[in-house]
Amino acid sequence: MWCTTCGEYGDLIRAVIRKTGQEVIVCTECDALWTQPQAGIDAARLRDVAAHLLDCGLPPDWTQLKLGARVPTTGTA
Ligand SMILES: [Zn+2]
Repeated sequence: MWCTTCGEYGDLIRAVIRKTGQEVIVCTECDALWTQPQAGIDAARLRDVAAHLLDCGLPPDWTQLKLGARVPTTGTA
């Protein structure tokens, strides 16, 4: 599934924040992060990976994330 922010360049990946166990969706290209993918992956709900980790009291580092599978393409993308 394509990232709505950086378009065709970014792959969306499922990830888990190691410390909190929170499941999120991230873009490996532009550091976009969605905390509620079921609510819709769009620019309006986009967060920044580093900003979200800081909000959780964690270092703004990708190593805080356990990366999982790519999000399968849905719809007409
Ligand atoms: Zn992106």
